[in-house]
Amino acid sequence: MHPRSTFRVGSKRVEAVSDGWFTMREGFMNVPGYQHNFEDESGVATLPIASFVVFGDHVTLLDAGYGPHQSRSLTGGALLDELAAIGVQPADVDVVAISHLHLDHDGWLATEHAEAVFDQATIHMGRDDYELFVRDDAATQSPGFKMAPHLREVLTALYDSGRVMLVDDATEIVPGIVALPTPGHTPGHLAFSIRDGGEQLLVLGDAMYCPAQLTDADLTAMHDVDPVLARRSRELIQREVEAHGTTAIGCHFPGLQAARVISSEVVAVS
Ligand SMILES: [Zn+2]
Repeated sequence: MHPRSTFRVGSKRVEAVSDGWFTMREGFMNVPGYQHNFEDESGVATLPIASFVVFGDHVTLLDAGYGPHQSRSLTGGALLDELAAIGVQPADVDVVAISHLHLDHDGWLATEHAEAVFDQATIHMGRDDYELFVRDDAATQSPGFKMAPHLREVLTALYDSGRVMLVDDATEIVPGIVALPTPGHTPGHLAFSIRDGGEQLLVLGDAMYCPAQLTDADLTAMHDVDPVLARRSRELIQREVEAHGTTAIGCHFPGLQAARVISSEVVAVS
């Protein structure tokens, strides 16, 4: 059973769904025993792999899961069923925005037959991620983060046809959704600010893995390519969340539960 959450941001509805599970191993976060909080009866600690659908003037999908695959630490495959369960077919999606091009966030952009899954959509991503994961042959990347050939093929073709939009600076990609550069986890990592009626939901991608990071900058997870820059991005998010009482959620937050900070305490938002 995959977790689902619904958020209201002014007049917009945001549905969080999960493509599957990310298995957290010992030491993934620099808090001894942290993963024990999420262990099931068999001692396996899993976190969701979230995508977010924003219903407004457009149907916007934030992040595209891992795809119908399984590896040592990732199990995907549920996204299209989860979207169907909330009434969304791939062709309904007008805009896709990807927080970063790690394989648990872009997996459903293309089938293994090199066809675009969201074939009506414009796709937004950080320019520096596109350069690194798609343009570059990525010889320096660890094998686990190298982009699959069918994905590179489709993204290159979409780019050539003008359907990939590369984000350099804070950019309103559709009315009420702003892509915010938050580099560090990857060079072109983006968070997304969903705004309406004076309310805001921050979708953090992998800038943070757990709600406790909203107040503790020393809490880190593996896989940040530039830890110094990643910390700076987390501090930027922390200031925004603290100053405006903003609700925030990352792609791997346990139970797809969002959080906010009240009087320096992290509080779950249900
Ligand atoms: Zn991830």
